[in-house]
Amino acid sequence: MNAGVDKPDSVNPALRSGLKKFKKNIPDIDYYLGGIRQGDRAVLSKAITLIESNRPEDKTIAGNLIQHCLPFSGNSVRLGITGVPGVGKSTFIEAFGLHLINKGHRVAVLAIDPSSTRTKGSILGDKTRMEKLSSHPLAFIRPSASAGTLGGVARQTRESILLCEAAGFDRIFVETVGVGQSETAVSKIVDFFLLLMLAGGGDELQGIKRGIMEMADLIVINKADGSNTQQAKLAKQAYENALHLFPKLPNGWQPKVLTASSVSGKGISTVEQQIDTFLRLTQSNGFFEQNRQQQALDILDNSLKDAIFGHFYSQKEIQKQLNYFRQQILDGKISPYEASNTIFEFYLNRLSGK
Ligand code: GDP
Repeated sequence: MNAGVDKPDSVNPALRSGLKKFKKNIPDIDYYLGGIRQGDRAVLSKAITLIESNRPEDKTIAGNLIQHCLPFSGNSVRLGITGVPGVGKSTFIEAFGLHLINKGHRVAVLAIDPSSTRTKGSILGDKTRMEKLSSHPLAFIRPSASAGTLGGVARQTRESILLCEAAGFDRIFVETVGVGQSETAVSKIVDFFLLLMLAGGGDELQGIKRGIMEMADLIVINKADGSNTQQAKLAKQAYENALHLFPKLPNGWQPKVLTASSVSGKGISTVEQQIDTFLRLTQSNGFFEQNRQQQALDILDNSLKDAIFGHFYSQKEIQKQLNYFRQQILDGKISPYEASNTIFEFYLNRLSGK
């Protein structure tokens, strides 16, 4: 048996002294902004970590940084992509991403995966995913934000999009697992929403949440290769028929269904063409910009709601009132509406110092 080698010190001593220096010399806004504007992916990555941080001092720099990046952001196409685990999302993003890079684009991939807060895993955590794309100098791949509520993760992802845009990435994928609420959150921060599906036996529409299909601008029947090719064609027909039952979107776009294979590459360029057609339509009829503006206004409303809720529920006196009135309601002594009015009045009085 080999004697083996001693286990090395877990932290490289050179790195340790470097870390000390780094801590003393905390990067400032110029460091982040300069690096991002030069397209430095390591700095971009650190900046996203800053956005994800809960430390008040990080939040201050992060807010400032976003403000500085805003003038350089917006020049990308933001593509949401969803589908159940195993449908082939990462393989597809890799194939499509490399295709886009060949066409002269720079590609960033971000993920929304609120389930990772529970499992401590991440849909992009597996290092074997998107190997070619992640090592490409014109691509940037960022695993999912690893903590927080869905709303919080969506906010961080939106801010990460802005940073990626300021760093020169012009095609941004936001990936989510198509099993829960996260699609709705993603659809509110992207320009185009793509749903990956598989050709299944029997009822093609089984198990597909109508809500998710309604959000899709494009459905791609994936893995349309080998013995699966014919089934994929049939599935395409079935989904096309189903989509015709949905009303046309206000932006004038009729959602499409395509087949594709990330393994053979067949259908990938057609996906790009459809997205381009969508962009030409919505940019010429003004809906592209209108959609982004509406998204920004919705974020304003939602952040205000979060802030007001947070302020309300964080007050001990309010908690006491709530506990008291909850019991009153359960005892049938007061209606929930009246209790709510009373508590709100109490809150307003506190605000005005009465
Ligand atoms: P994800 O969980 O949705 O990200 O799915 P993955 O991209 O990890 O793919 C799941 C499995 O499907 C992997 O074993 C892939 O090799 C396989 N796969 C992905 N895309 C294709 C495809 O276009 N054709 C075939 N035949 N297999 C594929």
